[in-house]
Amino acid sequence: MSARALRVVLGDQCSRTLSALADLDPGHDVVLMAEVMGECTYVRHHRQKIALVLAAMRHFARALTARGVRVDYVALDDPDNTGTLRGEVMRAVRRHGAARIVATEPGEWRVHADMLRWGEAAGVPVEIRDDDRFICPRADFARWAQGRRVLRMEHFYRVLRRRTGLLMEGDEPVGGRWNFDVENRRRLPDDVHPPPPHRVEPDAITRAVLDLVARRFPNHWGGLDAFAWPVTVRDAKAALDRFLAERLPQFGDYQDAMAEGEASLFHALLSTSLNLGLLLPLEVCRRAEAEWRAGRAPLNAVEGFIRQILGWREYVRGLYWLKMPDYARLNALGADRALPSFYWSADSGMRCLDAVVAQTRELAYAHHIQRLMVTGNFALLAGLDPREVNDWYLSVYADAFEWVELPNTHGMALYADGGIMASKPYAASGRYIDRMSDHCRHCRYDVRESVGERACPFNALYWDFLARHRARLGSNPRMVQMYRTLDRMDSAKVAALRRQAASFLDRVAPARRRSA
Ligand SMILES: Cc1cc2nc3c(=O)[nH]c(=O)nc-3n(C[C@H](O)[C@H](O)[C@H](O)COP(=O)(O)OP(=O)(O)OC[C@H]3O[C@@H](n4cnc5c(N)ncnc54)[C@H](O)[C@@H]3O)c2cc1C
Ligand code: SF4
Repeated sequence: MSARALRVVLGDQCSRTLSALADLDPGHDVVLMAEVMGECTYVRHHRQKIALVLAAMRHFARALTARGVRVDYVALDDPDNTGTLRGEVMRAVRRHGAARIVATEPGEWRVHADMLRWGEAAGVPVEIRDDDRFICPRADFARWAQGRRVLRMEHFYRVLRRRTGLLMEGDEPVGGRWNFDVENRRRLPDDVHPPPPHRVEPDAITRAVLDLVARRFPNHWGGLDAFAWPVTVRDAKAALDRFLAERLPQFGDYQDAMAEGEASLFHALLSTSLNLGLLLPLEVCRRAEAEWRAGRAPLNAVEGFIRQILGWREYVRGLYWLKMPDYARLNALGADRALPSFYWSADSGMRCLDAVVAQTRELAYAHHIQRLMVTGNFALLAGLDPREVNDWYLSVYADAFEWVELPNTHGMALYADGGIMASKPYAASGRYIDRMSDHCRHCRYDVRESVGERACPFNALYWDFLARHRARLGSNPRMVQMYRTLDRMDSAKVAALRRQAASFLDRVAPARRRSA
């Protein structure tokens, strides 16, 4: 008989196929799952994020126990709980006389650095296994990246399409194109009504967690009332089925749209299930492909959806591990303005931004374009400090884990990595928001105005951003058109726009604390 192993399962590792559990001996080994304060508070998470992870952990522990696995579950309220992962691993090794620790690599660099010290702290060897729930192993991404001057998602995506055979005919992409993005930029017409999002009613276990979170985290931001996230594999599969049947066919058309009162439109709301391991990315992509092959969903929708998971999700994870820890410290545009208080209070007066913040507070969710082109775009244009912005994104979304949050925020939204991820900053004026949403119709600002009391703040901020960063961005071939337009303006107009931007920013109050 082999020496007893302590198999550690982290909160976002609720997968039956987890590598740490692969060769588990149920009569002998012990699985440790620990709810620790340190993980609940390393940023001030939205209360739904904490509840989501704890509820998924409790359900997963129950499912393992039902299969005859011995699970040592340490609850947050356990009086002996040390509050840290390392402390709980050390206690469990002693409690069970474990001779070795087996774990799956964590999603976050911070936890990985800690995990490397577990063996020494507990006095037994620790084996850290690859997280094979991702489609592309970290080592494969590093090999792909080696020697490349630019690391664009689109190139990486094609490699994975070929490797998995997803949407391929031999060596060629189905439909003759790799990417159908140009067809995926429609505004939501008034007479198109997305189906209501799939809700999972909390069961007794989840309700107990919601009570616990309300009691223990009274000062964390975000409401618990709307909690309806999948917390088991069965819930997540039901959510996937509903998405494939009801939303996928129009996912592509309205992928970039935003609309008043519509939090998710035709988006999947599956990131929490994927990030916790309730769904596996390849299985989700294959299910979506099958919808196209059966003629139930068009190619622009299915390719667009698969690209998010096979392309973006795998790419940001590879990039994160390739570039950390230095990546988090980059600040290519020298942005240093404090995060405004309205990122918490939703009272900026800018209808688009307040809508996203209020929705985020209620649901711990915003879809990609809301994150990128409203809160992200404002942060980019206003020159907000990337550390504060990253902290905000990591705090406010139920799906936020640093491996996926950081590249999206730092690289895609803020261009803080100087172009490692994006070939140009995603900077846009109010015109973009007006084209893709109906927010401007309800706003106290006028999107057609750039200067004056009622002018949309995004407009002056946009031109000010371009003028401010001319030295760095002026020669970017993808920005030539924008700079040409700026150059055609007379200098008095540019000066007025820059004054407008400065006076707006002068009036913005910085956030003092991060509670509601
Ligand atoms: C500033 C910013 C911060 C973000 N932070 C996070 C985060 O903390 N956690 C997170 O999971 N996603 C993050 N994203 C990516 C994306 O916004 C979310 O994955 C998506 O909105 C989740 O909603 P959905 O499941 O309805 O997605 P859909 O639009 O329906 O997409 C389907 C799936 O594709 C994946 N996906 C889509 N876009 C991306 C992307 N850019 N990167 C990685 N995966 C993607 C997700 O797993 C998602 O569930 C961020 C994007 C931006 C611009
Ligand atoms: S007018 Fe400007 S601030 Fe108002 S909703 Fe439109 S883009 Fe947002």
